Amino acid sequence: MLTELPLASYDWWQRLGLCYPAAWGFAVFSVFTLGACLGSFLNVCIWRIPRGESVVTAPSHCTTCGADIRWYDNLPVISYLVLRGRCRHCHTPYSCRYLVVEALTGTLFTAVLLKAGFAQQVPSVLPLYWWCILLAVSCSWIDAKCRIIPDALTWPAIFYGIVLHALMPSACGMTTALSGGLYAFFSALIPGAFLSIFAIAGKKITGKDVLGWGDVKFIAASGALLGFPGALFVLLAGSLSGTVYGIILSSIRKRALKRCTIPFGPFLGAAAVIWTLAGNWIWHWYLLFSGK
Ligand SMILES: [Zn+2]
Repeated sequence: MLTELPLASYDWWQRLGLCYPAAWGFAVFSVFTLGACLGSFLNVCIWRIPRGESVVTAPSHCTTCGADIRWYDNLPVISYLVLRGRCRHCHTPYSCRYLVVEALTGTLFTAVLLKAGFAQQVPSVLPLYWWCILLAVSCSWIDAKCRIIPDALTWPAIFYGIVLHALMPSACGMTTALSGGLYAFFSALIPGAFLSIFAIAGKKITGKDVLGWGDVKFIAASGALLGFPGALFVLLAGSLSGTVYGIILSSIRKRALKRCTIPFGPFLGAAAVIWTLAGNWIWHWYLLFSGK
C-alpha cells in the first residue's frame, strides 16, 4: 500500500528533527524563504536569458532608469509589497511577474516539502523536486512570452539530475552511485531520443516543426530530475492538455488548428509541478489500475 513506508525513510525525517511541530514551522518558513529567494533569481533569468544577457555579472538594476537596486529593495515578496511594485527612483511600475514568480516558487517549494514529509518520502527527493520547480516556473514563463525554452536552463538541469541521483541514489530507490546515475541518465535519454525521432519525422512529413527542440530537452531534463515515470507523465499530461487548449483556442478564434501555434512549455511545466506534488500517488494508481 502507498501509506506503508520503508522504515528507513521515516528515520530520515526523524533524524532531521522534523517530527516536532516547532521544527516543522521553522522548516516551512526557511523553505519558503529559500524558494522566494531563488524565485527572485528566476526573475533575473526570465528577463535576461532570452535577451542574451549574463545572469551573474551585472547587478540588479531598474530596466527603465538603470538605477542599481539596493539589497533592501531586493528582498523577495516583501520589497515588492513595500514599494507597491514601483521603482524607488523613477517610480515606474514593475511587472507583477516579480511578485508572482517569487511567491509562487516559495509556495511550491513549501508544498513539496510538506507533501514529501506527509507521504514520508526520502528527503533526497527534495533537491531534485525543487530544481524541477525552478526549471518548470522559468521555462513556462519564458516559453509563454518568447516561445523558446533556453538551453541555459535545460542542459544544467539534465546534468544536475544525473549528478544528484548518483550522489543520492536513494531518491530513485537505487543503492549505488553508478545505478542512480545510470537510472537518471537513461530516464533523460530514452524520452529525449524518442521525442527527437518524433520531431525529425514530423518535420519531414509535414514540412514544419511539430515539436520544438526546447520541448524535447525539457522532457529529458524532467526525466533526469523526476525519473522515467515522471518524464512519461510530463510528456503525456503536458502534450494532452496543450493540445486540448489548442483546440479550444482555435475554435474560439475560428482559425484552423494548424495555424494556431501554442507554446507547450507552460503545459509541460505544469505537468512537472503536478508530478513533484503527487507523482508517487499517480504512479501508485497507475500500477493499481494496470494490475501490476
Ligand atoms: Zn527606475
